[in-house]
Amino acid sequence: MTAPSAIKTSAPDRSDFAQLTVQTWLEALPSPAVVLDGDMVLVAANGRAEDMLQSYPASVVGAIVNGPFRSIADRVRRIAGIETQAWFEHPLGGTWYYVTAYPVQARADGPVLQVVIATDITRQKHAEFEIRESEARLEEATRIAQLGTYKVYWDTEAVQWSPHMYVLHGLSPDSFVHTPDSYREIVHPEDRDLHERYRRNQLEGKALHGAEYRIIRKDGTMRWLRLDGRVLFDADGEPYASFGTCQDVTEGKQREQELKHLLRRNTILYEALDASPIGVAVLTTDGPRPEVFYVNAEFERLTGHKASSLAKRSIGALRAEDQSGVAGGEWDKVNLALQTSRAGAFELTCVRRDGTTFLGQLEVAPVRDHPGREATVFVLNLRDITIDRQRAEQLLQSQKMEALGQLSGGVAHEINNLLQPVLALSDLGQDIADTDPVKVRKYFEVIASSGRKARDVVRQVLTFARRDAPQLAAYPITALVEDALRLLQSGLPPEIKLMQQIEAGEAEALVNPTQVSQVVLNLVKNAADAMDGKGTVSVRLRSIDLDAAPAGALALAPGRWIELQVADAGCGMDAYTLSRVFEPFFTTKLAGKGTGLGLSVVYSIVVGWGGMLKLESEVDQGTTAMVYIPAAHSDAS
Ligand code: ADP
Ligand code: MG
Repeated sequence: MTAPSAIKTSAPDRSDFAQLTVQTWLEALPSPAVVLDGDMVLVAANGRAEDMLQSYPASVVGAIVNGPFRSIADRVRRIAGIETQAWFEHPLGGTWYYVTAYPVQARADGPVLQVVIATDITRQKHAEFEIRESEARLEEATRIAQLGTYKVYWDTEAVQWSPHMYVLHGLSPDSFVHTPDSYREIVHPEDRDLHERYRRNQLEGKALHGAEYRIIRKDGTMRWLRLDGRVLFDADGEPYASFGTCQDVTEGKQREQELKHLLRRNTILYEALDASPIGVAVLTTDGPRPEVFYVNAEFERLTGHKASSLAKRSIGALRAEDQSGVAGGEWDKVNLALQTSRAGAFELTCVRRDGTTFLGQLEVAPVRDHPGREATVFVLNLRDITIDRQRAEQLLQSQKMEALGQLSGGVAHEINNLLQPVLALSDLGQDIADTDPVKVRKYFEVIASSGRKARDVVRQVLTFARRDAPQLAAYPITALVEDALRLLQSGLPPEIKLMQQIEAGEAEALVNPTQVSQVVLNLVKNAADAMDGKGTVSVRLRSIDLDAAPAGALALAPGRWIELQVADAGCGMDAYTLSRVFEPFFTTKLAGKGTGLGLSVVYSIVVGWGGMLKLESEVDQGTTAMVYIPAAHSDAS
């Protein structure tokens, strides 16, 4: 029973439906709608069209359509002939319409009428504009930032790339088909697992932050890429895809790597410097005068200062406050070297933090950005040479004793010679004491003179043996050298001839007499040794004026110097021997013959005078030793 009644209840609706007029239909539409004939005459219109017709619809039926609807109608007519059904979007005074036109015919041969419906889509349109605008803005921003953007759909795992993504990967959009496998090929082999994790994370809906990995482009270049991704939600708030940006961070990565490398290098350098047994300080010239930038551990240990307490201070922090005279003069030289960007080595009394002092050797090395410019950085090396100095003094002393031993032969011979007339004349004098007082007085004079000479010899030996620090004073150099030669002559092998060329006249030298003997003795002995005990040793003494160039070559001040030359025609020295002869205990002689101390002692004596020792030698030709001695009363002194 229910079924027929169901049919029955529907039947009146169908008949009601058939009763509906077109006008009713039009009125039921939610948008303004009109019906036009081919001549743009308004056939019908619904109430909603009133605004667009600018008239009450019933009053304008039969007239040519007017008002804003007119422009829509014109557009419909333009395309109505071509398309059976037309639709378009039409802006009208700030409002957007979605216009649809349906051609209808009452009879097969009747005229074609157009039903035109204009739906207001302004709201959708604005939303669309906004989306488009924000897309355009994103596009522009990514272009400027050199960013690529991508979208990964979770359901299909399909990936969409922005054009710049292809640029970043060095790929062409025409030839590259993006699949997980084709992309994996591009990823650096070592980063493939990493990248796969990033991909999985995105598909699982996780955000990516600064995910970095490497790719290898077709041309073989390696690039670092960085991904940042977030989740996209659809209109219902359901997440469905990941959206992200991709950035080439190769340059930054390289800088980062370089920085890491640099930091590591710095660490190594600092550690190495701290392991150095030499005190190292680095001064910079950022301020008005060079100031401490860095000191190593040994420098801290030597000075008792912490690096932080020396930082930004002048190196003069190590100078004792009351240092004037000789000690202070050396410090002034350090300052001068720093001011004039010059290298130098200085022996200084340095004061520790606790006030105690030590003898320091300070080497200053300027570091220039460009040759010829002023130094911007100085590297300073500091050593405590207090003990070295003590040892050197001991060495000097022992060599002196050795030289004394060698001299004793000469001394004995000399005294013996002086005793001869004393003894002989004493005997003779006794015999004629009563008979010839005049002669006896003459004998006494000779005896007294011999006695005085003997006393001088003894005095000289005594000064030689004394331990105290040598005093420098002005002495007539000719006499000193002649005395020394005389004393050493008898100790030389008989077949060694001494050829003397003493041309220094009355010149005075700033020396210590004992040391002069020591220098002469050592040089002549070496010359005699080099000739195997037979030959001529030439000794020459003269005053010379050194010009700037030759003086500079000898690291001496230009001006007057006294030059002592000792030359032989002996075995000579090769370069290796020459480079080591000033080392204490370096000898090529048999044990018992040589101690290896001679030249090192001569060198330290001469340098102690403020002079210089130079050797010229050629194997099998001979050797010339040249000693430059400061002349008294001259600029050089
Ligand atoms: P020593 O004479 O005890 O060996 P020195 O310091 O005086 O020590 O000399 C060191 C070395 O220098 C000598 O062993 C020798 O090889 C070389 N030497 C020094 N003077 C001469 C010279 N005039 N001719 C050749 N070699 C020399
Ligand atoms: Mg010697």
